[in-house]
Amino acid sequence: MKQPSTHDAIVIGAGPAGTSAALALAQRGWAVAIVEKSAFPRRKVCGEYISASNLTLLDRLGVGDAWRAEAGPEIRRVGLFCGDTCVEAPMPGAKLGPAARDDFGRALGRDVLDSLLLDAARSAGAEVFQPGRAVAIDRDGACQAVRIQAGAGNSRDEATILRAPVIVAAHGSWEPGPLPSQLEKKSRPWDLLGFKAHFTGSTLPPDLMPLLTFPGGYGGMVLADHGRMSISCCIRRDVLARLRGRHAREHGGHVSAAEIVERHLRATCRGARDALEEARLDGSWLAAGPIRPGIRAGYEKDIFRVGNAAGESHPIIAEGISMALQSGWLLALELSAAAGGQAGRGAVGRRYERAWRGLFSTRVRAAEAIARIALGHGGAAMMGAVVRNFPRALTLGARLSGKTRAVPGFG
Ligand SMILES: Cc1cc2nc3c(=O)[nH]c(=O)nc-3n(C[C@H](O)[C@H](O)[C@H](O)COP(=O)(O)OP(=O)(O)OC[C@H]3O[C@@H](n4cnc5c(N)ncnc54)[C@H](O)[C@@H]3O)c2cc1C
Repeated sequence: MKQPSTHDAIVIGAGPAGTSAALALAQRGWAVAIVEKSAFPRRKVCGEYISASNLTLLDRLGVGDAWRAEAGPEIRRVGLFCGDTCVEAPMPGAKLGPAARDDFGRALGRDVLDSLLLDAARSAGAEVFQPGRAVAIDRDGACQAVRIQAGAGNSRDEATILRAPVIVAAHGSWEPGPLPSQLEKKSRPWDLLGFKAHFTGSTLPPDLMPLLTFPGGYGGMVLADHGRMSISCCIRRDVLARLRGRHAREHGGHVSAAEIVERHLRATCRGARDALEEARLDGSWLAAGPIRPGIRAGYEKDIFRVGNAAGESHPIIAEGISMALQSGWLLALELSAAAGGQAGRGAVGRRYERAWRGLFSTRVRAAEAIARIALGHGGAAMMGAVVRNFPRALTLGARLSGKTRAVPGFG
């Protein structure tokens, strides 16, 4: 016998995409479950910068003032640190519409941001299953059943089954897994692996967010909350392997991948080296990936996808949190305006995918082009030469990456 639904929607993953979808649906009276495998607060590989264009949305979700109270300083300048070159230019302001209060983006640690959003979703009525890993999604009559493994996800752990007509995959894109919405595992030499750390005592100017380029990768630095400087980067798998091999031959002994990355950054990028000179590591380095830039289906196998699961831009433009928050919101708007049933969900899926592409595909492609140049042979040096002669190229790049683009419904 078919079991009745336990919820109207089950959201898998409590990053910014999952919590914004869950929060917006719960605010509209939906019975929502959020399943999150990690206990919070947890740090995450991410630069942690959020464009000002998201603030009206964060206000609507009820967390804008808490975000303003916690986040780091306004980022009014964008920069490029490339070899010995350090160039900066104004960040384009983003005051969008009469209701907007914020002109410039800021950074907030993902340990703080993700907890803030999840607490707000819980307060709005969402039921949170955490730590709980979704390990299967199976059709069950008009619903789909999501199997959740409690705790760390070991097969011995107790399982819970939730059922809902609407399933939202918000599990990101960096980990393979058994769900039909998860990406298959790939390992290629040109894959980009992500690294991130917090430092205190950095001399990075508080209003500056430089893009870092270095052989085999790119990254960024920004002052976040509580005086923590967030440094994050991506490096090619093969370049990292070569650097580790060389270190082992020259010095012997075991050194972690993150330590090699930090040494490489300091050795090849003057701006990063200077900013880190007096700085102390706050917590450990984190690693993730490979990242999976690209545009994917927003609705497939009767599962909606938001955030990185739906599509991902190279983090060279620092827009992934914006895309996560905004895609969750877009989907919730479409779902709450639609008729039920699978045909209704198919129509929602088509409208949502159209809206997603209209809003994000330019920045995904712009980020791909910038990343190709930064990673290509001689490309970073060329970028350095261009911005030395024309620093406003950085301002233009920030505009092109969507930092001043209004979220639908808040123009
Ligand atoms: C080096 C680097 C720097 C970056 N810097 C920035 C930046 O400065 N600004 C910016 O906007 N973006 C940045 N990004 C991108 C940003 O981190 C991502 O785009 C964003 O985190 C995507 O959010 P999400 O909610 O889709 O997924 P995630 O944040 O990845 O969240 C997914 C959640 O799902 C959970 N989960 C996964 N599988 C399961 C499962 N089976 N069951 C239950 N839970 C599950 C995970 O634990 C996680 O909490 C950066 C990325 C990298 C790699």
